[in-house]
Amino acid sequence: MALDRKTVPNDLSAFWMPFTANRQFKKAPRMFVSADGMFYKAADGREVLDGTAGLWCCNAGHNRPKIVEAIRAQAGELDYAPAFQMGHPKAFELATALRDMAPEGMDHVFFTNSGSESVETALKIAIAYHRARGEGARTRLIGRERGYHGVNFGGISVGGIVTNRKVFGSLLTGVDHLPHTHLPGENSFTKGQPEHGAHLADELERIVALHGAETIAAVIVEPMAGSTGVLLPPKGYLERLRAICTKHGILLIFDEVITGFGRLGSSFAAEHFGVMPDLMTTAKGLTNGVIPMGAVLATGAIHDAFMQGPEHMIELFHGYTYSGNPMASAAGLATLETYREEGLFARAAEMAPYWQEALHSLKDARHVIDIRNMGLIGAVELEPIAGEPTKRAFQAFLDAYEKGILIRTTGDIIAMSPPLIIEKAHVDQLIGTLRDVLEALD
Ligand code: PMP
Repeated sequence: MALDRKTVPNDLSAFWMPFTANRQFKKAPRMFVSADGMFYKAADGREVLDGTAGLWCCNAGHNRPKIVEAIRAQAGELDYAPAFQMGHPKAFELATALRDMAPEGMDHVFFTNSGSESVETALKIAIAYHRARGEGARTRLIGRERGYHGVNFGGISVGGIVTNRKVFGSLLTGVDHLPHTHLPGENSFTKGQPEHGAHLADELERIVALHGAETIAAVIVEPMAGSTGVLLPPKGYLERLRAICTKHGILLIFDEVITGFGRLGSSFAAEHFGVMPDLMTTAKGLTNGVIPMGAVLATGAIHDAFMQGPEHMIELFHGYTYSGNPMASAAGLATLETYREEGLFARAAEMAPYWQEALHSLKDARHVIDIRNMGLIGAVELEPIAGEPTKRAFQAFLDAYEKGILIRTTGDIIAMSPPLIIEKAHVDQLIGTLRDVLEALD
């Protein structure tokens, strides 16, 4: 169908789109003009089933009345308040609501505007925490291969995606990486957490031996790596990582930007896996993706280490103009209320077995070499075309869009993370359409 030129501008050249093949896109643009519930409406009039909750963020689905109304009301009441040395009620209310939803012990909330900023904030808090306690030599940061921690310099330094790092210079110094936990062959087509790979956490002992624990501030990992293709932690892996960090006085940061807010069927992955970090980063589902906002949660021990010195002194020289922005706070409060009122995290857990079976029914579809899942997230890995990595999955993405479903691809992996309001009929539509797409792919 033709694009509706009344809603789509003729000149697309000015907007340099992020993480997008700009030249390809501008020849055949894909545009959404509205959204409701589980569906987007494309500019050519078609309904597109949202198989990815936007970018892993619209966990309550689209155009939710409570969230829309909260933003509308807030805009007419208090549009903006200075973020430093001043406050407004909704930011405090949201911090309390987030603490109440988070795993026990995550008592303090620092607001940011995105996942990337949450990561930078957590890394800085970790380094400053050690310094506040007289261990200023602890500055080294440990990330992981295939980790995604946003796109700012700290995040790409601890992150492990080569394409996101290699053209941006020397990055942060004093960074090391754990190996990733993806073991194809041993763990292929596992439903839920894989059996093999807990020993990979012991690599942290090797890094500690190399640099000395007294130089290491923090380890940052996604409890489940989302953006590099839904890589689940092997059974026992996170527990071992936690134990080694504790043994050496190293802080453990969980990047829960994707795994937070019900994606795995619990409020956060920390709760789901029963492993507590010292710092937790969030964003995306905090406001249902509607207004940019992120947050870092910290334990009392970390927060209290900063609360020293004269009372009139600023304790942490860090923050953003929009930290705890009133509109974002209002959206966040309405979002958390929506999750609670509709029991959406429990709903994700209830729907997870159906999702798992539907997803794994693609095992015999063409080109499929692995399937991974947990909660309401899943990945289907395709055999790459020799010499042309990413091409096959990208074609699947384009074909899927034409057939009315939104999926996401990373390398040759198709990732899906639908809104938690998904019904069985939507799962059937998503997986059935994807099967048709795969069967027709070269
Ligand atoms: N951390 C993780 C684990 C993420 O998945 C993402 C985004 N996909 C980010 C950080 C960065 O978030 P943002 O794009 O909001 O900066």
